[in-house]
Amino acid sequence: MTADTITAADIRINARWLIPIEPANTVLENQAIIIRGNRLAAIIPQTEADRSFRTRETVDLLHHVVMPGLINMHGHAAMALFRGMADDLPLMTWLNDHIWPAEGRFVSEQFIADGTQLAMAEMLRTGTTTFSDMYFFPEIAAQIAHDAGMRAQICFPLLDFPTPWGSGPDEYLSKGADFIDTWKADGYIMPAIGPHAPYTVSDGPMVEAARLSESSGAPIQIHLHETAFEVAEASEKLGKRPTTRLADLGVLRPETQCVHMTQIDDGDIGLLKQSGAQVIHCPESNLKLASGFCPTQKLLDHGINVAIGTDGAASNNDLDLFGELRTAAMIAKVVAADASALSAHKALEMATINGARALGRAHELGSLVEGKLADIIAIDLSDPFLQPVYDPASHLVYSNHGRSVSHSWINGVPQLQDGRLTRIDVADLMLRVEDWAGRIRTQAE
Ligand SMILES: [Zn+2]
Repeated sequence: MTADTITAADIRINARWLIPIEPANTVLENQAIIIRGNRLAAIIPQTEADRSFRTRETVDLLHHVVMPGLINMHGHAAMALFRGMADDLPLMTWLNDHIWPAEGRFVSEQFIADGTQLAMAEMLRTGTTTFSDMYFFPEIAAQIAHDAGMRAQICFPLLDFPTPWGSGPDEYLSKGADFIDTWKADGYIMPAIGPHAPYTVSDGPMVEAARLSESSGAPIQIHLHETAFEVAEASEKLGKRPTTRLADLGVLRPETQCVHMTQIDDGDIGLLKQSGAQVIHCPESNLKLASGFCPTQKLLDHGINVAIGTDGAASNNDLDLFGELRTAAMIAKVVAADASALSAHKALEMATINGARALGRAHELGSLVEGKLADIIAIDLSDPFLQPVYDPASHLVYSNHGRSVSHSWINGVPQLQDGRLTRIDVADLMLRVEDWAGRIRTQAE
């Protein structure tokens, strides 16, 4: 466009610093981000924007770094209502004696609605604009996310046994196919298939899940190689490691997101690479449940896409993806015995463009590039704990926590303004959360 053409647009964000993610390792200063409708119309120096655009709203972010919204690629949103309920236990004891019984007693449509909204409030407050969810009543979670204007991949659950959402694999798969049909054209919701784990889903339903993914285009997300016990048990019972079994069943594909991937050997890495499957790293959940380490730098060196997730708030116990990035970067260095492993910029990529790739949406999400969807966050660096600023990327990963996030937009719509949520009534939500907590406390006594 020429300097004397003035174009109308909706929102102009003046950013002190900008980390667009693409191109990589880039920090720009004094840029203007121009939003028209739900897309990024331009990212240009502020002086140039003065000559080229007239917008109905200007947001001056003088002490802030602006970047794409974060993508939390794994969680169980409504479990936020179980936050801090049962800690300091090994995975199988935690599941068998605490989480699964509590889910049996409390999980209902209303529980999912309130718990998902609690999780969304925390995620929006800490910079996440897209999240992935795998839990019961996916149609309720999808509706809640859609109504709040938050982007979400919602995986319907698939297990061998009955749960509050269905009687067994046949019912999960038929309800799941309807769920995909209902939501596949939605602007915010990405329906997906969620076989829980190799040890809870037998071969038949696993193959059906792969078929449904192939016919519908919906991704698969599965917990895989979460613990040493899972891998040892499968090797003993079936004579093969879980990753090999999934590869043999045709479940490992580019549309498959493998969550956790600790305890992996070179054979597993070869299968991930060959299949083009995605890895979702959940470092804090792996630490808290003493599950092990995912060798992120090694996977990235092999050209495998690694995105990041918090897992549910019952095993983390927060949904702050910036905190997760800090942990991921620290662990990657120790595991690789190399302080240069997973640099700050690479960590930020895990929470943005790598998440978009895992979703198959890298053409629209995960970086601030003209034409992409306007999912944007701003982080206020003016607090003493973030001063002085030599390199904003360093601060975002090593010094920050998500509560410094001050603004966000999803699809060009403001979600967070000066730290206040615009689309969720927090006071009303807190009353419902307290009501659930009272009921859960009474049952636990
Ligand atoms: Zn999980």
